[in-house]
Amino acid sequence: MYKQLVDKLSSNNELSFDEYLMLIEHRDECREYLYSKARDTRDKVYGKKVFIRGLIEFSNYCKNNCYYCGIRRDNNDLQRYRLTADEIVRCADNGYELGFRTFVLQGGEDSHFSDDTFCSIIKRIKDNHPDCAITLSLGERSYESYKQLKEAGADRYLLRHETANEEHYKRLHPADMSYKNRLRCINDLKLLNYQVGVGFMVGSPFQTNDDLAKEMLFLKKVNPQMVGIGPFISHKDTPFRDYENGTAELTTFMLALIRLTLPNVLLPATTALGTIDPLGREKGINAGANVLMPNLSPVDVREKYKLYDGKICTGEEAAQCISCLKLRIEKTGCQIVTDRGDYKIQEAI
Ligand code: SAH
Repeated sequence: MYKQLVDKLSSNNELSFDEYLMLIEHRDECREYLYSKARDTRDKVYGKKVFIRGLIEFSNYCKNNCYYCGIRRDNNDLQRYRLTADEIVRCADNGYELGFRTFVLQGGEDSHFSDDTFCSIIKRIKDNHPDCAITLSLGERSYESYKQLKEAGADRYLLRHETANEEHYKRLHPADMSYKNRLRCINDLKLLNYQVGVGFMVGSPFQTNDDLAKEMLFLKKVNPQMVGIGPFISHKDTPFRDYENGTAELTTFMLALIRLTLPNVLLPATTALGTIDPLGREKGINAGANVLMPNLSPVDVREKYKLYDGKICTGEEAAQCISCLKLRIEKTGCQIVTDRGDYKIQEAI
C-alpha cells in the first residue's frame, strides 16, 4: 500500500497532506523503494551527474539571533572574522582552477558589507570568470538590494524558509524576525528571476511529522529551483544546546520525497548530513540528491564558521576535499561534473 503511494507520487509528482504524512510515518515500509524511484527520476532529468558548488563563507558576523545557529549575535564565545573583497575574489580564482563553475557567497547578516561592496565583488568574479554562476546566501534584504545584486551579475539565491509553519518559525527565532518577511524575501527573489533555493532543517526542535508533510505542500507551491535541507545539529553555545539532533535517516527520506515532488530540483546532499553521519552525503546521493557544496573558504577561518557542532572538512584544503568527494561519489555510481549545473526547465511531455 505504501509502495502504491510511492508510485502515485512518482507519476503525479504530488500527494495530499495525509498521503505525505502516511509515507513519513511508515517510512520503514517503503524506504528502499522510494529511494530507487527518486534515483530514477534524478537520472532521467540530470543523468548520474553530481554538480559541485564552491562555498565561500565570507563572514561570521551576524545581526540575527536565531536560537539554533552557532554564529548568532549573542554568541560571545566565537572569534568573529570577515574576508576582504580581495580574499573573496581569490577564493573564487582558486576554485576556478579546481574546476568549480559555481560560487556560493554565504555569510551571516553582516552590515559591514554594503550593496555596493557586494556588487563590486560579484562583478569582479564575473569579469574574471564569465562562464561561472554566482549564488548568494546573504539572508534577508530589501527588494531594491536584491535587484542591484542581480543586476551586478548574481544568478541564484539561497534563502531557506527554515520551516513552513509560522508558529514553529516563532519558536526557532526571536520576535524581531518574522516568517512573513522571510516569505516576502523569497517572493521578491522569484520576481527578480533569480534561480531560488529554499529549505528547512530536519529534526529542528518542536518539529512534528505534520510539519514535515506541510513542508512538502509548501515546496510544491513555491516550486523553487533548489532545495537545501539538512539535519538540525545542536551547537553548544546556543539556546538549543540541549535539544536532540535530527537524523540522517529522516533527512535522506525527505530528500527522496523532494526529488519525486520536484523532479527537476537541484538538491544538495549537505555538509550537515555528512556531519551527522560519516556516509550521509553518499546516502543523500543514493536518495536522489545531485549537488555537493564543498568549502572554498581559507582553511584558517573554516573552524569559525560553525553553525553547529562537529562540522566536517574544516581542516582540509579545497583540493583535498574534491579528491575525497570524487572517490566517495564514484562509489554511488554517480560522477562529479564541473559545469555550471543550471536548473533544467521541465519539458512538456
Ligand atoms: N545568513 C544566511 C545564511 C544562513 S546559514 C541566511 O540567513 O540565509 C545557512 C543555513 O544553515 C541556515 O539557513 C540554516 O538552515 C542552517 N543552520 C543554521 N544553524 C544550524 C544548525 N544548528 N544545524 C543545522 N543547520 C543549521
